[in-house]
Amino acid sequence: MKYIGAHVSASGGVENAILRSVEIGGNAFALFTKNQRQWKAPPLKAESIAKFKRFCTAHQFSPEQILPHDSYLINLGNPEAENLAKSREAFIDEMQRCDQLGLKLLNFHPGSHLNKISEKACLARIAESLNLAIQAVPNVIAVLENTAGQGSNLGWRFEHLAEIIEQVEDKSRVGVCLDTCHLFSAGYDIQSYTASEATFAEFDKVVGFNYLRGMHLNGSKTPLGSRVDRHDTLRGGTIGTEVFQFIMQSPHFDRIPLILETIEPENWADEIKFLRDMELK
Ligand SMILES: [Zn+2]
Ligand SMILES: [Zn+2]
Repeated sequence: MKYIGAHVSASGGVENAILRSVEIGGNAFALFTKNQRQWKAPPLKAESIAKFKRFCTAHQFSPEQILPHDSYLINLGNPEAENLAKSREAFIDEMQRCDQLGLKLLNFHPGSHLNKISEKACLARIAESLNLAIQAVPNVIAVLENTAGQGSNLGWRFEHLAEIIEQVEDKSRVGVCLDTCHLFSAGYDIQSYTASEATFAEFDKVVGFNYLRGMHLNGSKTPLGSRVDRHDTLRGGTIGTEVFQFIMQSPHFDRIPLILETIEPENWADEIKFLRDMELK
């Protein structure tokens, strides 16, 4: 059973994300629980929380089908004390919002060293941030997303993800989300079915499928190893579609949210159908 959907808008209230997902035929979705470009947001209203839970029940979305994403401003590996503290506080707030909504996952980009500290020190800082957040908020799993390796962003190598997980005390509260565009931009070949098999076997060896909590399914505008993050449509761009066939046919991707962050929202319904048609019946 595959859970497929898109990162839909939550404008007008988090509960609207559910209705938008239903409209495009998704049985999974991602959302921001606050404005992703601002540090502070008003708390979720009790009415909005109640509606979100009611709509989830009505449209049969369980927490394992929903992958909230945190604000882009947060850097849990920030080399500067003041900014690190600000990021940690904001991340804890994001986790609390997820917990209030009854959600179990929070997807985030690991962090950046900003060329001020070593990779190793930055990865240790990210793990320490997670340990603090996990202590502060119950239930929610912190889901590290692999990155394209743009600028000083870490998390583009499987080894980075493994090193962070290794330093997280409660392993049941940490997971991974792999983005196909980011994999490809970071230099992992997924252009053919067999290349995809090899890349995901390496992921299993270095990190482990037991940590995989979600996927972002995106095409890429840039070539293999570009280290530049530019999403394309699912069928456009440089990756091709064999990796999506591999994902739809492998049981490793069952019962986790498979989320489109492709560039033409008007095509999401069609892209979801395209993926559904590749599932083994
Ligand atoms: Zn992504
Ligand atoms: Zn991206």
